[in-house]
Amino acid sequence: MSRTRPTGDAAYRDGTGTFHPAEQRIVPGSDLRGTTTIAVDACVVGAGAGGAVAAKELSEGGMRVALLEEGDWEDTATFTARPREMTTRLYRDAGQVATVGRPPILLPVGRAVGGTTLINSATCFRTPAPVLERWREELGLHELTESELEPWFRRVERELNVVQVPPDLAGRNAAVVRRGVERLGWSGDFLYRNVRGCVGAGVCAFGCPSGAKQHTGITYVPKAWAAGATTYTGARVEGVEVQGGAARAVTARTSGGGRLRVRCEHVVLAAGAIHTPLLLRRSGVGTASGWLGRNLSIHPCTAVKAIFEERIDMWHGVPQSYYCDEWAHEGFVLEGAAGPPDYIAASIPRSGPEHRALMERYPHMSQFGIMVCDVSRGSVRELAGRPQIRYDLDACDARAVRRGIEALCEIYWAAGAREVIVPVGRIPTLRNGETRPFGDAPVRTGDLTLMAFHPLGTARAGADPAASVVDGSGRVHGVSGVHVLDGAMVPSALGVNPQITIMALATRAAFALLGAPAPDEPAPERMAVPRPATPVAA
Ligand SMILES: Cc1cc2nc3c(=O)[nH]c(=O)nc-3n(C[C@H](O)[C@H](O)[C@H](O)COP(=O)(O)OP(=O)(O)OC[C@H]3O[C@@H](n4cnc5c(N)ncnc54)[C@H](O)[C@@H]3O)c2cc1C
Ligand code: SF4
Repeated sequence: MSRTRPTGDAAYRDGTGTFHPAEQRIVPGSDLRGTTTIAVDACVVGAGAGGAVAAKELSEGGMRVALLEEGDWEDTATFTARPREMTTRLYRDAGQVATVGRPPILLPVGRAVGGTTLINSATCFRTPAPVLERWREELGLHELTESELEPWFRRVERELNVVQVPPDLAGRNAAVVRRGVERLGWSGDFLYRNVRGCVGAGVCAFGCPSGAKQHTGITYVPKAWAAGATTYTGARVEGVEVQGGAARAVTARTSGGGRLRVRCEHVVLAAGAIHTPLLLRRSGVGTASGWLGRNLSIHPCTAVKAIFEERIDMWHGVPQSYYCDEWAHEGFVLEGAAGPPDYIAASIPRSGPEHRALMERYPHMSQFGIMVCDVSRGSVRELAGRPQIRYDLDACDARAVRRGIEALCEIYWAAGAREVIVPVGRIPTLRNGETRPFGDAPVRTGDLTLMAFHPLGTARAGADPAASVVDGSGRVHGVSGVHVLDGAMVPSALGVNPQITIMALATRAAFALLGAPAPDEPAPERMAVPRPATPVAA
């Protein structure tokens, strides 16, 4: 195997290399009525970032694996690139999952084979070194050093073909922001993404219609099938049966109205940070420390829009292709977020003729995002059979949102924008180079229109069973054979997009479960090394 892996222009455009299995090993839940019982070595719950990775590595390591996913298998050939249609199909609750609190925050997650990776923006960052350092200091996760994680990052990055966006595919939305960033002398770069042959079709968040995005449903899951694993779709897991302090089985309801019981010695819960804690609690597992369902971080986000004289045509190019980390030390990074017209129309903080006038200038509109490395923490609990997500934005995080908005105003004016629209309805469109739209007044959390895409931490990892739910390899404290390998185990906000962290931790944990040594993997030619976003407490 070559010792380096290309990550440049040619590797980004190369459309070859996607794995095609000889057989799709899928049992649709609609075919399962009555009671079905199977026996395997490991049952993995959830086919997203963590679960698909665990299923592939465990089955390639020789285990018999059943992968249970509540959503369906979605065929790329049927993706229409129409946001409303695809959101209903690929997102949980048609994309309407939201927090309760001040302010309420939309928190969309995926529900299909591929999980949220099927509808994510494909941005790839490793866990920043200072975050690992904090985990070591505050949670005793001494084994999670940069050098320990290196082979696991490399493995994930090779499997997914993590490569850097070439400038000409990044779109004019990124080009104008980059112009502003460079004129100000600030720090920024093109993002790294998990793609093969991406043509900049611009609808990553609604299912990549060209199959370029290397989500886990077309990468890890097919490799798990090739190694003998079976995916049960339409299988909503209800809980884990534990006897004598050890996992015995997983039980699920199928979309055909039946029941599926999977007898197994090892259970990997990877239902995501919203659902995994509910499954643990229902199973009476992981509750001893009192941390289960707490410690939720989400990376609150918002976006600023600007109107330019020149055409931007946000529908061309990779929607999230560039980032600016100049202000990471103030707890936020700026990341591209171009959007198709129907998506933008829903997020413009205007109504009536003003809204219409802005949408008429959509071809000249740019949008860029702010992502906060939050210090606020929320919680998840089950209420009437559904998750209730509680999250109040702390004043420190509100301040970071405000600073992010101000920084984007500066970038847009430096880039030559004519008008800037900040995400607060009561603030009129800016036309005069204003960079402090809030003046000296404190920002009111209730004023902010926020979204979030990265729920983490609700079954946090740590060395001390009294202060955490799982250990650094995802093993639930106090019970044998139950693992959490998804966003729930990631103990804090990262300040960068989390999929690679989740996947690397899941890979490492799967190898530990198999008792296998770290693999020899090629080093990437280049990889992003962003300035670390530092959560800013009061
Ligand atoms: C629009 C959007 C854009 C994003 N962009 C990026 C990005 O560019 N880069 C990045 O790093 N991250 C991004 N993310 C976040 C990233 O995709 C997630 O952090 C990651 O996929 C979470 O992995 P997970 O394994 O925790 O859960 P998921 O990937 O959400 O997988 C969980 C799976 O479990 C299933 N499940 C849940 N409950 C049950 C049950 N009871 N029984 C059976 N199955 C169940 C779900 O249906 C789902 O398929 C984005 C997220 C969104 C919403
Ligand atoms: S930009 Fe288009 S081709 Fe590239 S990953 Fe996104 S949807 Fe697929």
